[in-house]
Amino acid sequence: MKIKLGVLALFFMLFSYGQNQTITASLYETYDTYKEAALDKRRIKHSELQPLINRYRENPDFEVTKVGESIEGRDLSLISIGKGTTDVFLWSQMHGDEPTATQAMFDIFNFLASDDFKNEKNTILDSLRLHFLPMLNPDGAEVFQRRNRLGIDVNRDALRLQSPEGKTLKRVRDSLEAAFGFNLHDQSTYYNAERTEKPATISYLAPAYNYEKEINKVRANAMKVIVFMNNIIQKYAPGQVGRYNDDFEPRAFGDNIQKWGTSAILIESGGYPDDVEKQEIRKLNYVSILSAIYTIAEESYKDIPLTDYEKIPENDRKLFDLKIERATYELLGESYMLDLGINRLEVDKADHNDFWYSSRILDQGDLSTYYGYETFNASGYTIRPGKVYPQVVPSQSELENLAMDSLLQSGYTYVRLENIPNEQLESNYPVHLIGKKYKVPEFNLEIGINPTFLLEKNGKIEYAVINGFLVNVEKPFNANLKNAMIYR
Ligand SMILES: [Zn+2]
Repeated sequence: MKIKLGVLALFFMLFSYGQNQTITASLYETYDTYKEAALDKRRIKHSELQPLINRYRENPDFEVTKVGESIEGRDLSLISIGKGTTDVFLWSQMHGDEPTATQAMFDIFNFLASDDFKNEKNTILDSLRLHFLPMLNPDGAEVFQRRNRLGIDVNRDALRLQSPEGKTLKRVRDSLEAAFGFNLHDQSTYYNAERTEKPATISYLAPAYNYEKEINKVRANAMKVIVFMNNIIQKYAPGQVGRYNDDFEPRAFGDNIQKWGTSAILIESGGYPDDVEKQEIRKLNYVSILSAIYTIAEESYKDIPLTDYEKIPENDRKLFDLKIERATYELLGESYMLDLGINRLEVDKADHNDFWYSSRILDQGDLSTYYGYETFNASGYTIRPGKVYPQVVPSQSELENLAMDSLLQSGYTYVRLENIPNEQLESNYPVHLIGKKYKVPEFNLEIGINPTFLLEKNGKIEYAVINGFLVNVEKPFNANLKNAMIYR
């Protein structure tokens, strides 16, 4: 009898899992219908969200409640929908520069407000009440920074509750006593799934609630839903999932919310190749969070074996934007073989609506245990310093008259300009623009410098690295690099 029941349970599990797979595939395929077009880049502001939130004030299916204010007085709104008795609470962007899940939330609202997927939506909204708190740290988002206006990390304020943002989160959690809490973040794009070159596009954690890392029913339920979401992401981004270390952090919200009795699920959106604005990752958030909500409504997650949680690879941080392997470097008359790890760091423009790149060499030496979004095998290439173009060019617009490819082929990586306007911080040319009096520092390959040099093979320059971008000097250059550094 026991065996028969087991077989039955297995059959049921496969059946319900299959159903979930179907809804997931449909959500993925129809995503563009629901994508909130007003939010298409990472630097989004509180003021851009308000007209979108106001739409739902007028929709009788939704309830919009002001639940608090940020330090600078920006409203924190809770958007609720559903008639069920199980509460699910989702909050995003407690770190101001982590907007991916905020965008996905507005996609989810569009989906919930539509007339499509009626059966699935009835399943969700009859058994659950969903509560969304998008952009918990709007003051940080305003200047695209992690911390709030007080300069503290809201995610280390769960005990002391000094920030109004943290207080609001605690108060809403306590008033709802939600069954599930989704703590939605972005992580560095340099995380990878351990011992692979795959970026950790999504990372998960069911935070511990004590130093012993015990697993009670609250935490076990979070783990099961994570396994469910991992299975979905694996389909669309194979191998690109990581699991966070579950060391207990007594000051963090996730850990405390788990302790307070809400199954806490941390989702971190990381990197995805050629997706600087993280729009593909946003889509994966949308698909996996909605599917998770569906499995919570159906309670089908309960059949998922807990042991699968430990099988998700751990997060590691071994990715560079550009990895150059086995280049030859000449120093004081000797030749050495080096790998270089290069990252393209973003520098915000004054209004925090856009950015330009200022790249750095992060590491050099044997980097064979590291990976790159872009990897270049420089065997047979020698690193050479770039030169300053001998003529002074009147202004940036006249750069168009210079043939960039032949400039680089001749080894020129710096061009002097007669006039550099004060407000000018970037150009799209693959050379550095320098002022009339600027002195280029002597080239010495070391950690922390802006990676700018040539790669020469058999006496011929074939590639240039300019501000961390690899350029084939024989090909037309990409004119949208947010690239060249300007030194006055
Ligand atoms: Zn975060």
